[in-house]
Amino acid sequence: MKLEQYKVDALVVTHLPNLRYLCGFTGSAGVLLAAPRPVFFTDGRYAEQAAAEVLGARIVITRAAALAGVAAACAKLKLARIGIEADHLTVAQLAAFTSALGKGVKIVRLSGVVEAQRAIKDADEIELLRNAVNLSSRLFPGLLRSLRSGVAESSVAARLAYSARRHGAEAMSFETIVASGARSALPHGVASAAPLPPAGFVVLDYGVVADGYCSDMTRTIHLAKAPADARSLYMAVLEAQLAAISAVRPGATAGEVDLAARQELKRHKLDRYFTHSTGHGVGLEIHELPRLAARSDAILQPGMVITIEPGVYLPGKCGIRIEDMLLVTGSGYEVLTPVSKDFIELS
Ligand code: ZN
Ligand code: ZN
Repeated sequence: MKLEQYKVDALVVTHLPNLRYLCGFTGSAGVLLAAPRPVFFTDGRYAEQAAAEVLGARIVITRAAALAGVAAACAKLKLARIGIEADHLTVAQLAAFTSALGKGVKIVRLSGVVEAQRAIKDADEIELLRNAVNLSSRLFPGLLRSLRSGVAESSVAARLAYSARRHGAEAMSFETIVASGARSALPHGVASAAPLPPAGFVVLDYGVVADGYCSDMTRTIHLAKAPADARSLYMAVLEAQLAAISAVRPGATAGEVDLAARQELKRHKLDRYFTHSTGHGVGLEIHELPRLAARSDAILQPGMVITIEPGVYLPGKCGIRIEDMLLVTGSGYEVLTPVSKDFIELS
């Protein structure tokens, strides 16, 4: 991390995924003073864990709030300009930290410093992401078997979580979406008590956390034999997804990839039903940089791991989304999600 670039002497890192990324700490309370000589602060509960996990930083166990310890260290090291993670520090924490620092120290509000670095994955991270993707993909056949008319969406999600843990997942990477019937038109239709209908689309969007890294995939299946218009709606979304995938290459902007999906849907007069962005980065968190949104000028670079997930949502009727995870490579892309996207009609 180039602190000079941000014109600060140190960055106070409080966001837990950033802590994990920078020094390996996986606990739930700690602060890293990222400076020429980094110092990690945590409390007594984490003394043993920090000693085992933290790399590249001196460890200080504090009695009071970790940020008070950070302020004292800043004074001792005579640091004049301290960066903070403006997106992650609460107003109360900032006030306490400011008064603990005292006069003469300038607090610089920074945004996305570590996140920008995290957008490009190294070889070890790519391996962990592959493992997470493969684990969730192995759950898909069992997930399909659990889909039956009359079974509650929440029961489908609960079985999936149980099976994920039994396969070694630490957690689900977000609340599983099982959206059936008219609920499939809700882009974020988390599993409800609603029973699966006898016929219609079911959007299944889920992922797991394995070794700290997240996976994310969506498949939409049809319960019972589908009418022709349902099938062509599915094929339009699939074509849009494939068009966006083909647009992925190093040097392309995120906006170009997003546009590729939108143009394909426009050809089918469906673009106005695509109401969210085309994808996002994935890593230690489920939503990371880059955002693949309309007109985004973020540039895709080798080592980025992203989702491609266009969808169409016809209010009150139905919705379809198809989502894969991709690695941006030196020459183009690799689709990481191995699950078929053929149209599935479950009888
Ligand atoms: Zn998803
Ligand atoms: Zn996603």
